Amino acid sequence: MLIHANKQSIELPDHSTGRELVEQLKLTAPEQAIALKRSGKILDLSTTLHEGDDVTLLSFEDPEGKEVFWHTSAHVLAQAVLRLWPEALPTIGPPIEHGFYYDFANLKVSDADLESIEQEVQKIVQENYRPERQEFKNRQAALDAFGSNPYKKELIEGFEEGIFSAYRQGEFFDLCRGPHLPALGKIKAFKVLKTSGAYWRGDQDREMLTRIYAISFPDRKLLKEYLFVLEEAKKRDHKVLGPKLGLFSLKEEGPGMPFIHPKGMVLWNRLVEFWRELHQHAGYVEIKTPQLMSQDLWEMSGHWKHYRQNMYAFAIEERGFAIKPMNCPGCMLYFRSDTHSYRELPLRVAELGHVHRHEASGALNGLFRVRSFHQDDAHIFMRPGDIKHEILAILQLVEKTYSTFGLPYRLELSTRPTDSIGTDEDWTLATNGLKNALDEWGQPYRINEGDGAFYGPKIDIHIRDTLGRSWQCGTIQLDMALPEKFHLEYMDSDGIAKRPIMLHRAIFGSVERFFGILIEHFAGKFPLWLSPLPIRIMTVADRHADYAKEVAKTIQATGLLCDIDDSSESVGKKVRNAQLMQINYMLTVGDQEQERRDVSLRTRDNVVHGSIELSHFVSSVQKELKTKAFVSPFTETSSKEKT
Ligand SMILES: [Zn+2]
Ligand SMILES: [Zn+2]
Repeated sequence: MLIHANKQSIELPDHSTGRELVEQLKLTAPEQAIALKRSGKILDLSTTLHEGDDVTLLSFEDPEGKEVFWHTSAHVLAQAVLRLWPEALPTIGPPIEHGFYYDFANLKVSDADLESIEQEVQKIVQENYRPERQEFKNRQAALDAFGSNPYKKELIEGFEEGIFSAYRQGEFFDLCRGPHLPALGKIKAFKVLKTSGAYWRGDQDREMLTRIYAISFPDRKLLKEYLFVLEEAKKRDHKVLGPKLGLFSLKEEGPGMPFIHPKGMVLWNRLVEFWRELHQHAGYVEIKTPQLMSQDLWEMSGHWKHYRQNMYAFAIEERGFAIKPMNCPGCMLYFRSDTHSYRELPLRVAELGHVHRHEASGALNGLFRVRSFHQDDAHIFMRPGDIKHEILAILQLVEKTYSTFGLPYRLELSTRPTDSIGTDEDWTLATNGLKNALDEWGQPYRINEGDGAFYGPKIDIHIRDTLGRSWQCGTIQLDMALPEKFHLEYMDSDGIAKRPIMLHRAIFGSVERFFGILIEHFAGKFPLWLSPLPIRIMTVADRHADYAKEVAKTIQATGLLCDIDDSSESVGKKVRNAQLMQINYMLTVGDQEQERRDVSLRTRDNVVHGSIELSHFVSSVQKELKTKAFVSPFTETSSKEKT
């Protein structure tokens, strides 16, 4: 039979499975061929193939491949735990962004036990079981097998009637939908990371379970890299660095609602100025819509029905109101406040909107997961023929934005989900519009079939920071529902009123979150243009204070920020303090400098450059500011004397 796999045509004997296909393609490395994907479904390699099948073999590189890898590893973790503590009751064990966890009832473990779990995992992996799938014809059959575990029983009772499946590896048998790795030997590195408590089904009224987090890889080198990143990320943690550098704080009185401090505001304003300039150049107009709008608006937009549990809502003079969780409805009302002609389109409307969304207290995480944040939002109203051009223009903005921070990015296109609104014709037009733009853009992109929003296809943009961590920030979403709900219209060239096509887009995403990412990306060592305090002048003795003020005045007059440390500390101590604050340039003034009317320069990398003329220093730094350079112009010149 002939099948298509990984974009090639392959001849296989009838009734072959994915395993035979893997052998034929000689994909033998542990990270290759983890599972297969057919018609959007991820399946075990033991799946039987049919004439004409179009399949993709998934590797560890693919997010879905990782999921299968980590999902299978979670079973291994549970198997090891049950060998060590046979009375433990396994509940659920899903893959997560980095690794996986498994929750157990009736189990107490401490950090001292982690190593013995790893050793047991090692044994299981060496036993190299091939997970075998078993199907139950109905719910009762699954209950007969797993009903003695009250947690599994509850899960089975909660699933829809149909086929239930389980997987066996050696003595371990677990309820599971699959798919799994073809053999456990593919797991070459396994690390138990930590344990914590977790409520059954995330419900705090139910029992507390023991959760064990772990991660696994098909190669020891990948584990080493991961552990390095973990260690480095700890040092860069924005929740520690941010308050230490005086950038922001989080307080009990406003959970998930960051306080941005004066130094943080310097950086914040730089981000906003950059954003505003870029958007003005790209032909956007800017608006500001209210924080609080009436409940009927949210009912009309659909948020009341679909997003109510995340909204802060209350009554004022007996009328219902809600704080905006999104900017879109406000922008729709703005569009509706005038009549529009086709000549005005595409109309690009930006709003740096402050939104509030209720997140569970347990989910809050520094600036990464907050309840109050700003979105660099924009809505673009256009005619159908504008889609490709507008997407390309947004991609140019994306490129300009991220490259300024040294952040590479990748693009993903998500297409129509099964549960969606709109006609086939609309979806084809919208999806092709995005696809054509991406093809013309030329950068490779992933397609996530069926992952779009119910109201339209979207492009997600994932950036990669210096530690190689990936963050989804930007998004471009076509929306076929909202213009309809708000009855938006424009007068077309043929004199007929028509509905505009609308898209939502954001590039930073949440400014607060982007801020947090930047702190970790730069480890607090910001390039000059983002630096909350680029220059500090330090006196050698009290008698130099007046000259220090004179220098500060000259520098501040050029628009650069600086402060003075004229305390009675030693110069060595002053330097250390400045370095802790990651100040880009330290200027020391003593007798010699005062007499020669210059300054002695030391850069953040702790290189002493010695005497430098103030005007020369200022003009170099101004240029560095203007070009948004990553590297100081002094880094490669001057003496390399380290102290
Ligand atoms: Zn499983
Ligand atoms: Zn929107």
